[in-house]
Amino acid sequence: MIPDKPYRVLLYYKFVPIHGYALFAQHHLQLCRLLNLRGRILISPEGINGTVSGTTEQTECYITTLRMDERFADMQFKIDEANGHVFDKLFVRVKDELVTFRVGENGSPLKQTGTYLSPEEWHRTMQQEDVLILDGRTDYEYDLGHFRNAIRPPVKSFRDFPQWIRENLASHKDKTILTYCTGGVRCEKLTAFMVSEGFSRVAQLQGGIVTYGKDEHVQGKLWDGLCYVFDQRIAVPINHTEEYRLVSVCIHCGSPCDRYVNCANLDCHKQHFACVKCEQKTRRSCSQECQSAQRHELPIQQ
Ligand SMILES: [Zn+2]
Ligand SMILES: [Zn+2]
Repeated sequence: MIPDKPYRVLLYYKFVPIHGYALFAQHHLQLCRLLNLRGRILISPEGINGTVSGTTEQTECYITTLRMDERFADMQFKIDEANGHVFDKLFVRVKDELVTFRVGENGSPLKQTGTYLSPEEWHRTMQQEDVLILDGRTDYEYDLGHFRNAIRPPVKSFRDFPQWIRENLASHKDKTILTYCTGGVRCEKLTAFMVSEGFSRVAQLQGGIVTYGKDEHVQGKLWDGLCYVFDQRIAVPINHTEEYRLVSVCIHCGSPCDRYVNCANLDCHKQHFACVKCEQKTRRSCSQECQSAQRHELPIQQ
């Protein structure tokens, strides 16, 4: 297959014990530098999680090299084409956990995890009555786009999930709960934790939202809005059918809007939705207060 665009973005993870992970990370950094890749890769005793961009040849070489290591032989890569790099730099970081959760051994996907649903199974199951669809991401990701009827946990950071689940879902332990996230890695942690807390029917969307959007059969159906991604693209389309609709609105005028911008008040920098008109009118500020802030990036227009 001949690609349309010269670059590719890879998204991948694998939970597998990595002994001597600090040394592994050093070697991995060398490999990525050699291949001229850019992006963010996390390495921990429990596995690897990364998103990188590079040319088709570079990313292909990366995939082949990684799969030669038997620990990663079956690693799934989600691949998007791109016109260029979508990251400025390359980071290979060593962390205690792939996704910070701090609930101990019980929350480890190496021990147990929720059942996997393929995009087709997910599409069918999410329409059944009496299921809870739980967004496994943070609130600002939800606001750009989400599965129809999904619960929006008011969490600013992933590590707030355990407490929120204990306080809000404890009475639903026998209910079917479906979780989803961008590429699947957070759901591995989330469902591992929920199973250990006694939730009996927890399932996760295999390969995450991005895989769902690429599936030929479902074509992203029942996904509203766009999907937040942690690179320069910010938002990617998921629903490729005519039922696609925007869910986010400009915080100033309320018109449908999918432009995420950062508040130009340097002491705020809050990400918010703003249409082109309102961005100009407010000097890209999220509030009246920020608009008149001292440390502002933009000059006042005459
Ligand atoms: Zn507006
Ligand atoms: Zn602000």
